[in-house]
Amino acid sequence: MGYKIDYLEVNKILKELSKEYDIYAPKRFEKRGRYSDTDIVRYDIIEKVEDIVFDRQSDYSAKEVISPITQTLFYFTEDEYRESKQSNKKILILMRPCDRNAIERQNKIYLQNGGFSDIYYKRVQERVKFAVMECTNQWDTCFCVTMGTNKTDDYSIAIKNENNHWLVDVKDNDFENYFNGEKVDYKLSFVEKNELSFEIPKISNKEVLTKLKEHPMWLEYNKRCISCGACTTCCPTCSCFTTTDITYTENSENGERRRTAASCQIPGFSDMAGGHSFRNTAGERMRYKVLHKFHDYKERFKDYHMCVGCGRCITRCPELISIVASVQKMGKAIEEIEKEGK
Ligand code: SF4
Ligand code: SF4
Repeated sequence: MGYKIDYLEVNKILKELSKEYDIYAPKRFEKRGRYSDTDIVRYDIIEKVEDIVFDRQSDYSAKEVISPITQTLFYFTEDEYRESKQSNKKILILMRPCDRNAIERQNKIYLQNGGFSDIYYKRVQERVKFAVMECTNQWDTCFCVTMGTNKTDDYSIAIKNENNHWLVDVKDNDFENYFNGEKVDYKLSFVEKNELSFEIPKISNKEVLTKLKEHPMWLEYNKRCISCGACTTCCPTCSCFTTTDITYTENSENGERRRTAASCQIPGFSDMAGGHSFRNTAGERMRYKVLHKFHDYKERFKDYHMCVGCGRCITRCPELISIVASVQKMGKAIEEIEKEGK
């Protein structure tokens, strides 16, 4: 059973919910896009239904709510440190099924990695509930069906935005009292087919993997990729960050440690003490990214591939590099390697 609720009533509900929750959803920022006179859509606190962008995929994903682009982890003085404070308000995030699946991938990285859990991620994640927005349209770069991320049943509320009203299904008792209206038979539906669809290549053994890493296919990216990192900052599953200690000018022994989103595609990302550096070419960095999204993550966590097929990296790349084309090239390279080995 669901509800049909007109925008006027939706706004009253959002107002009530806002007393208990910070509500995040895709929001338009005018003239803040990549080119002059273009807008950008990214996650921010919304107050009313008119703030929410339904007809365009957000340029940046909902991950920024839980793992912000930059945040202070702790403050330090000469002899002690104090964890940064956070709001205790609950959080409700409206997102599409692929992004909901991306949060699960991030949870594995931040909370189940080698027995450690990241306290700064955990303390936000524990306050979050999810509302899934039904995809009533899709984009030519979506390939969620291939990745199996077109569906989810892990949400508190399902929302279908229609002309001047919402269809809502409430699964979580915490929200039952907020919603009422005309009772209708509404259940969340999912996209069943994308224009973009392909077979994910399998790497059968370590020997093939080693040969694939040395395959000339990666050299192409030394010319094409400008190592800007745009593909990773928009990716809902990328989680790399760097930390910086900021010291205060009045007393340089006092300061704060911040972490900031970083990118494996940018030169210097893998620099280590002692002058060691890995993946020094754009091709090597691309190889790392593609294998991480379509092989290594699954090898480590066993369940599924890291990529959720949102297609944002394809849209954002200034050099028109498509991760789908890269994976397809990887499939051909694997075939070649396997044929040679016979
Ligand atoms: S399509 Fe690109 S941006 Fe989206 S999850 Fe996959 S790698 Fe990340
Ligand atoms: S693949 Fe595209 S977006 Fe990613 S680093 Fe290279 S040029 Fe930038």
